[in-house]
This record gives sequence, structure tokens and C-alpha cells, in this order.
Amino acid sequence: MKLRIAVLPGDGVGPEVTREAVRVLRAVSDVNGYDFEFHEYLIGGAAYDAEGLPLPQRTLDGCLESDAVLLGAVGGPKYDFLPPELRSEAGLLSLRKALGVFANLRPAIAYEAVADCSPIRPEVLRGANILIVRELLGGVYFGRPRGRDEHGAYDTMRYSAQEIERVARIAFEQARLRRRHLTSVDKANVLETSRLWRQVVSDLAQEYPEVKLDHAYVDSFAMQLIASPSRFDVVVTENLFGDVLSDESAVLSGSLGMLGSASIGGKVGLFEPIHGSAPDIAGKNIANPMGAIASAAMLLRFAAGLQRDADDVEAAIGRVLEKGCVTADLRSEKRQTTLSTREVGDEVERALTDLLSQRLAYHAV
Ligand code: NAD
Repeated sequence: MKLRIAVLPGDGVGPEVTREAVRVLRAVSDVNGYDFEFHEYLIGGAAYDAEGLPLPQRTLDGCLESDAVLLGAVGGPKYDFLPPELRSEAGLLSLRKALGVFANLRPAIAYEAVADCSPIRPEVLRGANILIVRELLGGVYFGRPRGRDEHGAYDTMRYSAQEIERVARIAFEQARLRRRHLTSVDKANVLETSRLWRQVVSDLAQEYPEVKLDHAYVDSFAMQLIASPSRFDVVVTENLFGDVLSDESAVLSGSLGMLGSASIGGKVGLFEPIHGSAPDIAGKNIANPMGAIASAAMLLRFAAGLQRDADDVEAAIGRVLEKGCVTADLRSEKRQTTLSTREVGDEVERALTDLLSQRLAYHAV
């Protein structure tokens, strides 16, 4: 198995957490005898400092020549006052667009071992395991016209039936591989784009009779997501609603640092933790690398089709959490001692190497 991976560490804690995710991928490659190649490029503030642009052409070309992109995080206070087109977020949006990744998959898992870090009661959290599929290239983030006039400011929310169908199809496919329950979230009682959304998703459901489809309004869904999270399996929604709901779902996992994501559907997949550059803790070796490592697992699954290796990485994360080896964001009364970013990475690498070696030994006999 040969895989070329573009690594974009970015800013703040990005390089710290990405380093651990790369180690995990190297371990998968070494133990299995795969041939993974890593090529590092600049993005965000780091790219602006070096080359005056948040997404240099060299970075974009490097990503397009790769099989997958692993990204850390971009941005920081130093870059907040730049004009909109030079801000780090603009670089990230341009990269997503150039790669054509229209579906953003964000799993939110309530790990029992760290359930005490969530503000939600453990009995409510128990069993919660949700996959949010967010449309990533349409809606109000990209709609034109946008701007200001003498009355104020305006943005445009726009969706074509084709944009809705392609992301809904990915959500149905994922539901079919999981618990076969899909919830489509919209605001069809108010928005015309949502009425089209609901119609297209309902029509597509005819092709997936084994998947149970529900529709929910975004306002009541936002409440149900934390009031009874175990009711949901796969959730599909448009760009802006998905942005908000997937961050909300982070409370199920106890920390923003726990969640990874996969952006797929285009030329090359993009894999990144959902958190930002966390300038308040950058450079201290205390950031939680689990979201970046979970993103590496999704890279194995979606960019390389290495399902069992992806499962092993996720199982290693679970084992390390069960041992109580966590970074400071998951400190609790139960767990007073915490580890550094590097030490958590060591633990995951060790657990993963054990799991991979056991599997290879099992297949060898
Ligand atoms: P953030 O996600 O960086 O941080 C929010 C809080 O979560 C902070 O208290 C931070 O310390 C904590 N946190 C985040 N990641 C963590 C980790 N891995 N381990 C432990 N704690 C972690 O969000 P923010 O503070 O709103 O934004 C900071 C910068 O990041 C801004 O410039 C913003 O534009 C940018 N940002 C980038 C992305 C991205 O690259 N995809 C996403 C969101 C925000």
C-alpha cells in the first residue's frame, strides 16, 4: 500500500497535535509494511508569515498531488486583523473548495472513561455515538451576492438539488454501515432552501429503504442533541447548521480536543481535528492530540480504504482513555494526574503497535 500524505501543521497547537497523528500513521505504515510518504506544507498564519498568503500555490499543488491531506489548525490573534482574503480562514475555505470536498464527517463519541468531563449527566450520555455529516461547499458561506449597502449587510443562502443530493447520499451510505438511522436537520418551516433540502433527502430515501429517515428542525434538534444524544445515529445538515451543531456535539466527548473530522467527496480528502489553533495553550505541550489522531484514523478509512487499521487506531484511543491517560483538558476529580501531548501520543502509539502486532500474528498462524 503506497500513500502520499500532504501534512499541513498550520498554527498554534496545530504542529503539536499533527506531529502525534503523523507518528500514529508511521506506526501503521511500519508495522504493516506499507509505504506512506509524508510531505509538509505551510498554511494559515505560518504561510502568511513566510510567503504573504494563507494558501500558497505550492501548498495547493502539493495537496492536489497527494492521496490525502492531514491538517492541524489555522489562525490566531496575530492574524485576526488582516483583510478577509488574507485571513487564515480564507486559506482553509479556499483549500476545501479547491479539493472539492463537499461532505464533512464529524463523529462525536461519548467515551465512558471520560464521561465525567462532559457537563451532560452520564446516564444521558451513555451509548451516544453520532456522526454528523455537514455540507461543506454550499449555503450561506459561499452564496452570492453578499455585501453591504445603505440599509446594512446581506449574505445569500443558496443550494442546488444536486448539491443536496450528493451530500445526502454520503449520509445514507454511512447510515447503512452504522445503525441505519438518518436524521436530516433543516429549517423547512421558514427557509426555501430547507424545503428543497427536505424534498431532495426524502426522494433519495426511496433508494435506501433499509435506512430509517427522520426530519428535524434545527432549533429543536439543537436541544435534543444534548437532551437525548443516544437517540441519534447519522445526522445530515447544511453548512451553517452543521458548523454550529458539530461544535455543540463536542460536549458529548468532554473536550473540543477529542474530535476529528474527514472532508470527502472531492479529488483529495482533507482530515483535521475540529478544534482551532488554541492560542491560549499553544507551545506548552499540553494540547489534546486525540482529535488529530482520530482524524488520522479517518484518513486511513476514507483515503486509503484501510478499514481495519482505522478501527485499530480508534481502539487504541479507547484503550488509552480507559487507562486514564489524558491531557489537562480532561482533568477531573477522578483524574488529577495528566500527561503531555507527547506522552499521550506515546501511549496511543504503544497501544496501537500492540493491536496491530496481535492482528498480524493472528493472521500469520
Ligand atoms: P479553539 O478551538 O482554538 O479553542 C477553544 C478552546 O478549546 C480553547 O480554550 C482551547 O484551549 C481549547 N482547545 C482547543 N483545542 C484543544 C486541544 N487540542 N486540546 C485542549 N484544548 C483545546 O477556538 P478559538 O479559541 O475560537 O479559536 C482560536 C483560533 O483558531 C482563531 O484564530 C480561530 O479563527 C481559529 N480556528 C481555526 C479552526 C481550524 O483551523 N479549522 C477552527 C476553529 C477556529
